[in-house]
Amino acid sequence: MIKFIHRFIDFIFPQRCLCCGKVIHSDDSLCVDCFERINFITGPFCKHCGSPLYSENDLSDELYCVSCLNHKDAFRFCRSAILYDDGSKKLLLDFKFSDRTENRKLLAKWLFLAGKDIFSAGVDLLIPIPLHYTRLLKRKYNQSAILAKELSTLTNIPVEYKSLKKIKRTLPQVLCNGKQRQKNVKNAFKVANTERIKNKRIVLIDDVYTTGATMKECTKVLLNAGAKSVDVLTVAKVVS
Ligand SMILES: [Zn+2]
Ligand SMILES: [Zn+2]
Repeated sequence: MIKFIHRFIDFIFPQRCLCCGKVIHSDDSLCVDCFERINFITGPFCKHCGSPLYSENDLSDELYCVSCLNHKDAFRFCRSAILYDDGSKKLLLDFKFSDRTENRKLLAKWLFLAGKDIFSAGVDLLIPIPLHYTRLLKRKYNQSAILAKELSTLTNIPVEYKSLKKIKRTLPQVLCNGKQRQKNVKNAFKVANTERIKNKRIVLIDDVYTTGATMKECTKVLLNAGAKSVDVLTVAKVVS
C-alpha cells in the first residue's frame, strides 16, 4: 500500500532534475546529463588550499601547490567539492538568487564529502559567511547560512550564526578584480561575541570560493578574536 502511495505521489509530483527540470525516475537530484557536467574536485589536490593539481610537476610527496609551497594562508585547510564552471553555475546561481533553496540538500551533501579532511582534523563550530543586513533584507535569505544549517544536520556540528557580523556594506565581489576584492572586504567583518569563538575550531561555510578575499578576511578576524583554527569549506571553487 505504502509503495502504491509513493508511486501515486511520484506520478502527481514527479521528481525533477534540480538543474534542468527534466523529470527523473530516481532519488538522485540531477539527471544523468546534468550530473555528468559537474566537475568534482577529487584529487590530486593541494593539501592546504584544495586546488586541483594538474601538472605532474606538482605531484610532490607533500602535495602542495606551488603557491602554498611559497606561502600558506592563515586558514588550516580549504576544501571545495566542485569546480565553478558552466556545468555548475546554474545550480549555484539559482540557489543564491532565485529562491531555489531546495538545492540545499544536494549542495550540503557535496560539502560533507569534500570536508572529509577538515572534519577528521576536528571541528567545533560551523560559521556561515554573513551578509550585511541590508543585503539580507533585499535577498531574504543567506545562502551560506542555509548550507551551514543543512551541513550541521549531517555532521552534528553546531552552527554559530551571530558571532561573525558583516558591518560594512561592500560592492558585490563579482564587480571587483583581484586586488579590489581584498580592499573591498577589508574591515568589513567583526566578531560580535568573542567568548563564543574563543579556542574553537571553526569551519567557514560559503557557496563559492573565487579569489578567497572574503574567506581570508574572515579567517583573520576570527583568529585575531581567539579562534583556535579556521578552515574554509565551499561548494564550488573558481580555478583559473
Ligand atoms: Zn538535468
Ligand atoms: Zn595550495
